[in-house]
Amino acid sequence: MTSPLRRPLIAGNWKMHRTVDGSVELARALADTARVGPRTDVVVAPVFTALHAVAKALTGTAIGLAGQHCHWEDQGAFTGEIAPPMLKDVGCAWCLVGHSERRQLFQETDAMVHRKTVALRRHGLRPIVCVGETLAERESGVTFEVLRRQWEGALGGLTGDDARAFVGDVVLAYEPVWAIGTGRTAKASDAQSAHAYLRDRIRNDLGEVADGVRILYGGSVKADNAAELLAQPDVDGLLVGGASLDAAGFARIIQAAG
Ligand code: PEP
Repeated sequence: MTSPLRRPLIAGNWKMHRTVDGSVELARALADTARVGPRTDVVVAPVFTALHAVAKALTGTAIGLAGQHCHWEDQGAFTGEIAPPMLKDVGCAWCLVGHSERRQLFQETDAMVHRKTVALRRHGLRPIVCVGETLAERESGVTFEVLRRQWEGALGGLTGDDARAFVGDVVLAYEPVWAIGTGRTAKASDAQSAHAYLRDRIRNDLGEVADGVRILYGGSVKADNAAELLAQPDVDGLLVGGASLDAAGFARIIQAAG
């Protein structure tokens, strides 16, 4: 039986889209349309400038708020960055870490992913740590090696109970880079085998804590393919980019989670 800790999580990554007014409009439309089941978590990640206004718009709803990115320090001379306590201050309970766009376009490394994840945990925020292979890596047959390297990088050398506590606080998101924003979704069976690999890896290293870790799938998820992906035994939710910018479509994805 699946652990109750693995309640489905549907997260919408709005990326660098929408003004403050546009974000609030989208949040309100989503809150009006989506029927969030009692055992499902739903989170949206708007642009930083809209977080405060969206937090207000979502007050009293079942939809939570996430940052898309953060620094690992609490404050300081880091022009352009935002710190975990600042995300918390505007109402975030979650934050994406290591999204492939951050890794590829902004040189975010595994070591940075680890430091950010540690910082988020220190402030009681839930990190959603993204991992995934490029098309070239998949075609060269090194998908699992890449997942292993990124996961171990996020863990940053923690072992034993420290590692288990870390894992217990983290949500993982498997996002094959070739499926993000491309309209190419991984086959449900490919998603399942990557998720099962990650869970087995964690189980081998750290034991049964693996059975409670939520692993989301992300990459061109739409209302039409959400249910099939969610039906896979190791897929515990979805990280949705483009399709989360349409309230009605995202509401259908949420409904697929029950
Ligand atoms: C994402 O940004 O995490 C993502 C999965 O994007 P898309 O759904 O647009 O592929």
